[in-house]
Amino acid sequence: MIYLDNNATTKVHPEVFQAMEPYLRDEFGNPSTGYDLGKRSNEAINKAREQVSSFLNANEEEIVFTSCGTESDNAAIYSALNAKTEKRHIVTTSVEHSAVILFAKSMMPNIEITELGVNSDGVIDLNELENAIRKDTALVTIMWANNETGICQPIHEAAKIVQAKNTLFHTDAVNAAGKINIDTNKSPIDFLSISGHKFHAPKGIGALFVRSGSPFSPFLIGGGQENGKRAGTEAVAQIVGLGKAAELAQQRISSNGTEKLASLRDRLEKNIFKKIEGAHHNGCQKRRLPNTSHLSFENVDAGDLLILTNEKGLCIASGSACSTGKREPSRIMKAMGYDDERAMSSVRLSVSSMNTEKEIDEASEIIVSCVKKIRSLRPKDGGPVIFAS
Ligand code: PLP
Repeated sequence: MIYLDNNATTKVHPEVFQAMEPYLRDEFGNPSTGYDLGKRSNEAINKAREQVSSFLNANEEEIVFTSCGTESDNAAIYSALNAKTEKRHIVTTSVEHSAVILFAKSMMPNIEITELGVNSDGVIDLNELENAIRKDTALVTIMWANNETGICQPIHEAAKIVQAKNTLFHTDAVNAAGKINIDTNKSPIDFLSISGHKFHAPKGIGALFVRSGSPFSPFLIGGGQENGKRAGTEAVAQIVGLGKAAELAQQRISSNGTEKLASLRDRLEKNIFKKIEGAHHNGCQKRRLPNTSHLSFENVDAGDLLILTNEKGLCIASGSACSTGKREPSRIMKAMGYDDERAMSSVRLSVSSMNTEKEIDEASEIIVSCVKKIRSLRPKDGGPVIFAS
């Protein structure tokens, strides 16, 4: 099997697994207890908090462990609307993950939402952002990098505009963290979401950065865990895994990890473009994550391509993982102004540091042969071939 769907999820790193293992066996103490077994769990959490705060260049007390990226996103939005404010307006974008957009919409009609559009590059207009912020805007929430296209928004500039308007700013960095450097000290960000399973920690663990001094109102209420910011007995093993994965990601990024990802992605694209005509990049090539390639193939239905590549042991995605199988044009592609045909012929290839050049070459051969096969069988009316899976 060759796995090129690392924006959907990643394989747990062996060192992460090793770090977690004791906490799934003998080190099972509740971190809130006073005896040594519990104290060791608490110390493990403290270490993970150190690792994650260093990864984001934040202070330890600014890290709140959550169950996933979705919870981090929900908690940031919930907090902005509940922490000592009467403001009821949110500014976001049309390309956010559903963890942001659907959670915000679930609070309508009690709140108003302004959705900023993106251009054909997939990028928001900063003037439009500035004009959209009102006196009653409780929060601006803009994703760092899109999970489907990999396009990065101008987060630093956006955060400064929002700060100047005295408004809270959240960024969903779930698909950016672990691939590019995230420095919370460089931008006036109030809240930032990450999720472990996107950078080789297990599923079911995330974190929310909450800047010291930014108002916060907890989403989960109960015990006083996480300094009162997120109740619930801590998932010690998962937290340890997140900490180790953050440490490893930080090491990779500081030793040219971003460039190494980009070179794998570029090799993949070069191989494909050399052998297939009518292949196109979607969105801005300069502003994307180093690991993500979002391509459209003329006269190819992405659903067909997924079925054939899967038969050959290659894992890739069309649209985001959550909407795979629906066979609907991606809303992200539509937001960028692409037509249905282009959207339905697009696939996402996302590499990780665990991929090898050999795999990249084999994967490109598989994609090339499958695209050619689909084109040769495509009905004259231009519809999908629809292979039996
Ligand atoms: N935000 C983005 C940009 C994502 O890509 C994802 C996951 O696909 C999420 C949020 C949700 O994260 P999780 O799966 O950890 O809940």
